[in-house]
Amino acid sequence: MIEPHGGTLIDRVVEDEHEEQLRSRVSETSAIDLDIAEYQDLINISNGRYSPLDGFMSQHDFLKVVNDMTLEDGTVWPLPIILDIPPKKAETLRPGDTVGLNDPSGRLVGAIHIDDIYKYSVIDVAKCVFGTDDTDHPGVQNLYNREDFLVGGNIHVFDEERYNSHDLFPKETRVLFEHRGWETVVGFQTRNAPHRAHEYIQKSGLELTDGLLVQPKLGAKKQGDYRDDIILSSYKTLFNNYYPDNRAALSVFPSRMNYAGPREAVFDALVRKNQGCSHFVIGRDHAGVGNYYGEFEAQEIIREIGDVGIIPLFYDYSFYCSKCDGMTSEKICPHSEEKQIHPSGTKIRNMIQEGSQPSEKIMRPEVARCIMDADEPFIKESGLQEGRA
Ligand SMILES: [Zn+2]
Repeated sequence: MIEPHGGTLIDRVVEDEHEEQLRSRVSETSAIDLDIAEYQDLINISNGRYSPLDGFMSQHDFLKVVNDMTLEDGTVWPLPIILDIPPKKAETLRPGDTVGLNDPSGRLVGAIHIDDIYKYSVIDVAKCVFGTDDTDHPGVQNLYNREDFLVGGNIHVFDEERYNSHDLFPKETRVLFEHRGWETVVGFQTRNAPHRAHEYIQKSGLELTDGLLVQPKLGAKKQGDYRDDIILSSYKTLFNNYYPDNRAALSVFPSRMNYAGPREAVFDALVRKNQGCSHFVIGRDHAGVGNYYGEFEAQEIIREIGDVGIIPLFYDYSFYCSKCDGMTSEKICPHSEEKQIHPSGTKIRNMIQEGSQPSEKIMRPEVARCIMDADEPFIKESGLQEGRA
């Protein structure tokens, strides 16, 4: 089995015998309230999905990640994992304090042992991480909405917190892979219901490996994206009809979409490495939004960084070709465009919204029906989703 990033799978769930002690320590000060994305980060740190991170970033790691895409010790890490607090809260906290953390409903779920409290330049961070400070970019907008102060330090949570029944922690997917005899596993990140190009790429990856892990990112997204429950139900439908039981697994990665393009591709790969995947698919415009990133920029950045302990699989445009009579790709189909039917996510969403079923050449009819049978398959307003899966 592949090593976790940094060599050790982090586990920050407090041991039973220390729980009461920690609870009484944090009861003396008022806790920090987490929004849904921060709460998801907390959980992902605690269950090892973000190994080797054991907490929210302190200033030295934060600056190094922003500027050089590594932690202070040189380990590759592309995205800041940060906890922001308002100035009034910052005044009451000191390095060395242990402070409670509340989930979005106000429930005390864990604690942070504070290393430092610091300010940062939003514009500089946006330009480095997202390649732009344009507030039309949803990831930049999220950053601008944050408070002025960041608090760094390692964390503990009191219990294993799970997003839903599909939320398998890295230690669990690792057991699953071993149990199924998969020595190599290709990981697939998605934020969409599957069309046939997704299936083609996943199965192309699976030809090279023993198993496939499809792991949709679930959490805050933007208006018009698929709802979490639709992504899951459409994948279940696809798996039931078109995938061999003993070769494919469906799990989830509870995390906000950052739309950070190339950097998020590296992040997505490292999370899947921690889940136990040996390979990871990087497609066209991975985690992109609008026209902020080049179509193959994510692939280029991974080539530049070099070996991060998981093998990237690069894919080109995939589509149906009537002359080839099947799914194929830019790389291997020699035919002209009029023979090709491209399964664009936007086109499919528009068709579904108008009540017409996409051609079975671009979306499996069972999947299309599963989406069309839902009352409201798409997110109406950006941000937190109601009725998570
Ligand atoms: Zn062709």
